[in-house]
Amino acid sequence: MNAERDSAVGEQPSVEALNTGKSDKSSSRVTSGRKPAGRGSGASRSTVGKAAAGETAAQAPAKTSVKAPAGKKAAAPKKTAVKRTAVKTTTAKRTATKTTAAAPKSAKAAAAKTPAAKAPARKPESRAAMIRRARRINRELAEVYPYAHPELDFTNPFELLVATVLSAQTTDLRVNQTTPALFALCPTPEDMAAMDPERLEELIRPAGFFRAKTKSLLGLSAALRDRFGGEVPGRLEDLVSLPGVGRKTANVVLGNAFGVPGITVDTHFGRLARRFGWTTQEDPEKVEADVAEIFPKSEWTMLSHRVVFHGRRVCHSRKPACGACPIAPLCPSYGEGETDPEKAKKLLKYEMGGQPGQRLRPPADYPGWPAAPLAAR
Ligand code: SF4
Repeated sequence: MNAERDSAVGEQPSVEALNTGKSDKSSSRVTSGRKPAGRGSGASRSTVGKAAAGETAAQAPAKTSVKAPAGKKAAAPKKTAVKRTAVKTTTAKRTATKTTAAAPKSAKAAAAKTPAAKAPARKPESRAAMIRRARRINRELAEVYPYAHPELDFTNPFELLVATVLSAQTTDLRVNQTTPALFALCPTPEDMAAMDPERLEELIRPAGFFRAKTKSLLGLSAALRDRFGGEVPGRLEDLVSLPGVGRKTANVVLGNAFGVPGITVDTHFGRLARRFGWTTQEDPEKVEADVAEIFPKSEWTMLSHRVVFHGRRVCHSRKPACGACPIAPLCPSYGEGETDPEKAKKLLKYEMGGQPGQRLRPPADYPGWPAAPLAAR
């Protein structure tokens, strides 16, 4: 897989060229073609085109049949028909007629051919243009969320690992409300491995799926104690060998506790990567591989936080707030959600919607305010 990635990256423009390059034609097209204003002007242009093309479709064949009745002069040379029509028609009509004349002999066939001229096919975005646009999205998101961070409370790699395992099928908020009591009772892998399973189940019950998660926590704590000297390993292959730890969890731990670049493909990241046109894949590992080819490694961890932040605050699964989306001009999926700015604004969440964040202990630069502990809710 690495070899494939390397070779694909090798075909791309250099990182510097892409990062410093101005908006290319394709990007502009995405922008203007997508925005309401752009769409309007595009529509006008298209209307002009349609005037000519529309006559091409509807009038030209009819005139041809009137001026040169197919029944009487079916074998009439094409040139005659063109000449006759050209004298009487406007420039646009002349163009239309020429199109007709160049088309197959029968008016029916000509009519069937002409509609293609109505709406000029939009040029598909090239891969290089998609990469430039993707990197612009990343830069824009960095400006919108300069404070993007993991939304799980933790103070060391072990806490982050445990919190990430607990976050499956629930919100980070609920995990953050659950872990203070858990970490107070078992701050190390040795402590957790020695816990009574029923007691552990009670402690983590608010995070849901508490039986399966208890099994994972006991298993991974014992493995850390027995195989890694009570320390969380800093290598992907070691992390994924722990019970209940998959690639996503391993990347979260590597990126945020060890500074090893990793792309975290959770439900938000996968959804947005598809909406942005970075991938068509559903499988998280394939999404990760596609996105890894677009961005330099140094961006992977922060890109993951930014995209997940955007997915949680603006680009929701069911009701994306397109009308209040700061990267709408760069998004090919604009319009999937609410486009009315006032209505879209009401869909924003967390600090963007004037609500508390998910962390009980957020970083100092977080512009919102902390979540409340479980007991106070
Ligand atoms: S909210 Fe709409 S415009 Fe913004 S990223 Fe999501 S789909 Fe695109």
